[in-house]
Amino acid sequence: MTVQLQKMKMLVAGEWKDSATGARSSILDPSSGEIIAEVPRASKQDAKAAVDAARAAFGSPEWRDMDSGKRGRILTKLAGLVRENSDELARLETSNEGKTLRESKGDVAWAARAFEYFAGLADKIEGETIPVPPKRLNYTLKEPLGVTVHIVPWNYPIALASRSLAPALAAGNTVVMKPSELTPLTALKIGELALKAGTPKGVMNVVTGSGAEVGSALVSDKNVDGIVFTGSGDTGRQVMEAAAKNITHVVMELGGKNPHIVFADADLQRAVKAVKDGIFTNAGQMCWAGSRAFIHESIYDGFVKDLVSKTSAMKIGPGSEETTEMGPLVSKSRQETVLGYVKDGVSEGAKLLYGGKRPSDPRLDKGSFLEPTIFADVTGEMKIGCDEIFGPVLCVTKFKNTDEVVAMANETDYGLYGGVWTNNLKLAHDVASRLEVGGVAINEYLVTFPQTPFGGYKDSGIGHENGVRALEYYTRTKNVSVNLS
Ligand code: NAD
Repeated sequence: MTVQLQKMKMLVAGEWKDSATGARSSILDPSSGEIIAEVPRASKQDAKAAVDAARAAFGSPEWRDMDSGKRGRILTKLAGLVRENSDELARLETSNEGKTLRESKGDVAWAARAFEYFAGLADKIEGETIPVPPKRLNYTLKEPLGVTVHIVPWNYPIALASRSLAPALAAGNTVVMKPSELTPLTALKIGELALKAGTPKGVMNVVTGSGAEVGSALVSDKNVDGIVFTGSGDTGRQVMEAAAKNITHVVMELGGKNPHIVFADADLQRAVKAVKDGIFTNAGQMCWAGSRAFIHESIYDGFVKDLVSKTSAMKIGPGSEETTEMGPLVSKSRQETVLGYVKDGVSEGAKLLYGGKRPSDPRLDKGSFLEPTIFADVTGEMKIGCDEIFGPVLCVTKFKNTDEVVAMANETDYGLYGGVWTNNLKLAHDVASRLEVGGVAINEYLVTFPQTPFGGYKDSGIGHENGVRALEYYTRTKNVSVNLS
């Protein structure tokens, strides 16, 4: 796929701008290592300008007094524009992040659906009347937080940007989005489409640059009322420290080391495919990757044989090629990190069943590709058994009974997501209730909708995205008491 080198600007106060210093960053295609775009490298000054623009827009009558139904119509229009531009958006995402075009198309469709879903909720954010002693009226108002900052990682650039922008805008906030320095292209396009859809100037701002400089400036700004951070736990902790100084409201969507449990009575054909796709989709670079597979001992040998055979048949290549089943990792540095984990696994005594190397195809040398990798006999004490590897590495472990597998599944600091495969309804619900995670998928893996809450327990986060309840995190509640006597 050839994507022409694009020289892009960032969106501040409704204008397309360079950074205050004039600095720019090159954006790479991870399947070839080629530069595909240049974007401004924003400075602290640019971060402040974006927050100031959002603050001014929040106070402007054009936005503050806008009928909530009209806000909904703008978001509906934005959803339509995302759909109309879905080919371009999907190509941008694939060329920038590396995932297959099929996955990118799915992410773009998901983003459109998120805008549409929250568009419908914009005029349904309701307060309540509360019964109090007589001769009084007591009610609550649900008000927007104000200026919200959205810090987005690189693994699902358009889907994750949209899942938090949609409720923020629906609730009447004004926003500053900072995409990952690696993958800013679709975020900039969303900024363009939001303007086209009718968001007034300054309601939506997109600044491109590093986390250390522009990200930290945004989350430390006293003029910011809410931060939605999606990324690693280490950065999340830094963001929370910065937010604590200003008592800024935070939502944290962090990492995972997710258990995927297969019981003996499961539909094994479907389960094998789901365990494979649950880790190798997006080259395993997913917070909700099913990175730890627990397989019942009575089916273990056959299951693992089939899993390795299906994995070895996977076609690795540039995401833009129709037949590709797994694209590259997002960067060379990520490739090195994951290879380091493979070394750790081998030296810790886990059994390498498949993969663990760069592919031998010389055509892929310039990209950051890695073979899909499967380890067996992994324990929770091993580094590969407890760290979030964030790459195409599956850790497989055998289990004897339900109590044992629930204990192993919960033996991690993370608590994002889990999968259960069984045809025994009672067992499925029992295990779902005992897993210490924010989401469980039964007889299916990797499933989320804009209308279903998504969030982590334990070190995987605070708060929820998606669903009606997400609006709680983008609004504040005011109580009004009126004495009528
Ligand atoms: P990261 O923490 O390195 O970066 C995330 C974002 O934070 C980037 O935009 C980065 O520029 C910014 N950033 C870095 N330092 C910052 C600072 N000091 N202040 C403010 N912003 C800063 O994470 P990543 O490598 O981009 O993404 C991978 C991580 O994201 C994984 O741990 C993954 O599990 C997690 N993730 C979680 C979810 C979820 O919904 N729970 C979804 C996707 C990814």
